[in-house]
Amino acid sequence: MSFDSLGLPDSLVKAVKEQGYTEPSPIQAQAIPAVLEGKDVMAAAQTGTGKTAGFTLPLLANLEHGERAKSNQVRALILTPTRELAAQVHASVENYGKNMPLRSAVVFGGVKINPQMQNLRRGVDVLVATPGRLLDLYQQNAIRFKQLEVLILDEADRMLDMGFVDAVKTIAKATPASRQTLLFSATFEGRVMAIAKQLLKDPARIQLSANHDRHAAIEQRLHHADDHGHKHDLLSHYLSSTELSQAVIFTATKRGADKLAR
Ligand code: AMP
Repeated sequence: MSFDSLGLPDSLVKAVKEQGYTEPSPIQAQAIPAVLEGKDVMAAAQTGTGKTAGFTLPLLANLEHGERAKSNQVRALILTPTRELAAQVHASVENYGKNMPLRSAVVFGGVKINPQMQNLRRGVDVLVATPGRLLDLYQQNAIRFKQLEVLILDEADRMLDMGFVDAVKTIAKATPASRQTLLFSATFEGRVMAIAKQLLKDPARIQLSANHDRHAAIEQRLHHADDHGHKHDLLSHYLSSTELSQAVIFTATKRGADKLAR
């Protein structure tokens, strides 16, 4: 599989190759053609899978030839749970889209809202945002969604964990029903499924092999220890073994973790 066969325009294939990527990651191989086709997509993908390029590249390709964003309008909205992730995703958008005539911006809370309002006045083709600040901007009429073509929820499970469910729903409701929607999440437990059902239309589902499949080489052992002393002796025995170069130890309580660390 190569980037040339995914249907991306040459300018983006070139940008990707300049990054030193030689082949698409599994999530990219599946997501890129589906997004290019205009389908809704829900993908189970954690950080480190290459998911950002998986949605950014086809998004930029789809936006390249459409009508540019008008004043205070946005054509593609990417919601992320944290400002760090928003900044990171925005850096990818800028980087891959550097040779395209598209405007992008990032907005998040904890900084002054006025410069963000000014920046949105000209309209942006791609806006990366955290839900709380975006809702603020929307309520102050600094951003409108009439021209919105694509809504992307990145790390949807974390967004819900952080209490953004109402903000996400309000924002989605304000966007045109004709939009394309993409949802990325590490897990698809109940709440994430519920929001996916509400927001996505007949989505292509992308599920990479489960984690345990990828860790087939792990050997598991179980030791019964009769008391704490014995348990700690066993543990120090393992930790002093030369086979072991790195270890993670889980404990039942914070106090237990502190004690063990000491
Ligand atoms: P992400 O999962 O989107 O946070 O990406 C994780 C890391 O993988 C980032 O540092 C990307 O630059 C890198 N990456 C994304 N796609 C590829 C690829 N096809 N080949 C190699 N590295 C990649």
